[in-house]
Amino acid sequence: TDCQPSLRDRARHSLRHFLADFTQLEREYPHTYPKSILRAEGAYVYDEAGHRLLDAGTHLGACQIGHGSAEVAERIARQVKRLEFIALDGGISHPYAVALAQRLAGMVLCDDPIFSFTNSGSESNELAFKIARQYHRRRGQPQRVKILSRVGSYHGSTYAAAAATGVAAFKEGFGPLPEGFIQGAQPSPGRCGQCGPSDACSMACFDAFSRTVENEGPATVAAIIAEPVAIPQAVKVPHPEYFTRLRKFCDHHGILLIIDEVVCGFGRTGKMFGAEHFGVRGDIVTYAKGLTSGYVPMGAVAVSRRVEEVFKDSPLLHLNTYAGHPVACEAAMAVLDITERDGLVAHAARMQAVLRRELERMQAGVPRVRHLCVIGLLSSTLADISDQADPDATVRKVRKLAYDHGLLVRISRDGALLGAHFYPPLVVSEADIVSGVKALGQALEAI
Ligand code: PLP
Repeated sequence: TDCQPSLRDRARHSLRHFLADFTQLEREYPHTYPKSILRAEGAYVYDEAGHRLLDAGTHLGACQIGHGSAEVAERIARQVKRLEFIALDGGISHPYAVALAQRLAGMVLCDDPIFSFTNSGSESNELAFKIARQYHRRRGQPQRVKILSRVGSYHGSTYAAAAATGVAAFKEGFGPLPEGFIQGAQPSPGRCGQCGPSDACSMACFDAFSRTVENEGPATVAAIIAEPVAIPQAVKVPHPEYFTRLRKFCDHHGILLIIDEVVCGFGRTGKMFGAEHFGVRGDIVTYAKGLTSGYVPMGAVAVSRRVEEVFKDSPLLHLNTYAGHPVACEAAMAVLDITERDGLVAHAARMQAVLRRELERMQAGVPRVRHLCVIGLLSSTLADISDQADPDATVRKVRKLAYDHGLLVRISRDGALLGAHFYPPLVVSEADIVSGVKALGQALEAI
């Protein structure tokens, strides 16, 4: 398009003033820079050289309906012309937020919910923690302040969300973090070290987690937060009974259960919500990413009526300028329409078998692959890189090789394991998965 030369120029020359997700591109990626994505369509993105890549992870799990939807673009444009913004403050509302809340209320796993909107997953979790602590305070239990989460979880990078995150690297060097955030064991079938090396899970991790809560004193715990399927390091699908036990445990001790659907929500795992795999209902449930499929940033917090009751006489004081932004509400409505009309959740469920088949085929040819996990269109592949002299250089090399083979995939390192998270938009076809996984295999084979 006409603007491409100037965009390309900017991407090349302005890096001195730019941090891409807090990495200085030239320093961190000396051999791969510059990689600028100029446009996108469906499951594919195009870089400045016109190179076409399957986006199997660089949307970070936000892109469900695919890139570049003209339908969403038109509805967003219409909303900007109609009402681009008004804050939900001083008794003022607008029908776009009201309608979205009503629609979501009929879908989510939370009893008779009431919704607040945010701009991201981190913000949604921050608000969930504030609601949980205030809920107990207002019910005469101000000592209930602790928030328990699980090791190997990710809940965001703002202060309290980072404090709840169970990956040390996101917290180190930022202290003091908010107090009262504690992590216990998390299921990771085949990897957790509690049930041994088999994929059979005995839920020893649940017992270990409940012991952590008991040692802390259940009467001091405000809430437990858990993702239905957590993804840091490896995708972790818990035992089918795990959440039934967790729900009962919370009820028994008067602890609120916060379900973090930020990455699982809106079809990613082959069901509309991750919690549907386990039939678990949260007292508070948080969303973002797939809610608007990344077209406009937006998050949401569902609060069950039972919890919301305590705020009836005197509302929670929490102000967020862009909460329920009309353009984001319209984007969410358009994304939900497309998801339902095109049967994207059922498609993701069908593609699970294809993704698993292709990853297993790849594993057969790449002996260093040690572990696979697939649910819906969310997957992780762990490869042993203990023989590599410079494991970080290996991570960069695999990322570059995948790129050169036409694949954007999330590659990270956990000690001597390289993790590849392959999670394409839900519009991906069988042929896209076949060629994408082949590219991943070629990149892993080369190390
Ligand atoms: N919770 C989960 C499960 C996530 O995967 C993420 C982001 O990856 C977050 C929360 C934080 O969301 P955001 O990056 O929109 O703040």
